[in-house]
Amino acid sequence: AEPEHPYRSVYQRDRDRILHSSAFRRLSGKTQVFTGDMGDYHRTRLTHTYEVASIARTLSRALRLNEDLAEALALFHDVGHPPFGHAGEAALHACLRDHGGFSHNQHALTVAEEIEQRYPNFPGLNLTCEVLDSQVARAERAADSVPLLEAQIVDAADSITYDAHDTDDAVKLGLLNIEQLADIPLIARMVQRVRRRFATIDGSALRKALVHELIDYQVSDVLRVNDAALTQGNYSSAAEARQGGYRVRPSQELAEEKAELERYLYLAVYRHPRLLEVRAEAQQRLRELFDFLVGHPHHLPEFFQERIPGRGLQRAVGDYMAGMTDRFFRQQYERLRPGGTGG
Ligand code: MG
Repeated sequence: AEPEHPYRSVYQRDRDRILHSSAFRRLSGKTQVFTGDMGDYHRTRLTHTYEVASIARTLSRALRLNEDLAEALALFHDVGHPPFGHAGEAALHACLRDHGGFSHNQHALTVAEEIEQRYPNFPGLNLTCEVLDSQVARAERAADSVPLLEAQIVDAADSITYDAHDTDDAVKLGLLNIEQLADIPLIARMVQRVRRRFATIDGSALRKALVHELIDYQVSDVLRVNDAALTQGNYSSAAEARQGGYRVRPSQELAEEKAELERYLYLAVYRHPRLLEVRAEAQQRLRELFDFLVGHPHHLPEFFQERIPGRGLQRAVGDYMAGMTDRFFRQQYERLRPGGTGG
């Protein structure tokens, strides 16, 4: 427990502590889907996080939920991501298979409670129970748990965001084009909506308008559906809605359309040969550096060396590597040459 701040709510304070953490700043150097060597247009994990926070705030304010809490949760949601996105996560999970595995959701809690040491009067960031418990819910994904409505809003905002920006990034990078995408009902309908207002729009202007429409359409759908359901439930508070098992959802129609778009993106983008190639190389190198550091723990920074007795050698190495940006990882890999004959 600590005294409350004179003019910031506890969730505003959480938000600021997350914002000022080094794990948060490093999101700018971490892959969302596409790596830095593929260009500089696409989202990093930091810009993705800000898009999620922006949409989560819009939804929370319109539904009269706690906007500060939603913002803190959104800024926190990807803080535990290792370098190289889900490929990096899969690689670290494989490295730590016999030592409890690795999940970015779990790691965010380790970051907040143990790794960030910025305040002399307490360990970690001392975030509120609401933020920590919501992150536990993300990590455990128990089917019967009903997260805070603000946490559910952040999940909805996350999904709205990546469906829109992965489409945008993939077209901009030339992995697919809008003509191909127009086979997907959701995209076809968005293009139609855009063309109703701007009949002759094409090329990059169409791509940009399509992304705006994809976000606006999804946000409006989630708002309409949940505003109606919450009104109908006649709840006196968000806590009461949660106790009643309330689930934040898009409409059935949008849920189906999103699933179809995501299936398409999975095959055409996430499994694109260019991405698979980058991913395979990153995974191979992560494995090499992990094995090297386990064999040569004196190369770990002091902070992580000191964690070995309590945490175990492999987990201490995993915690260190999870904090790396893509670029820092490459630098360390070049410097230590774990795959080279020098070992
Ligand atoms: Mg996310």
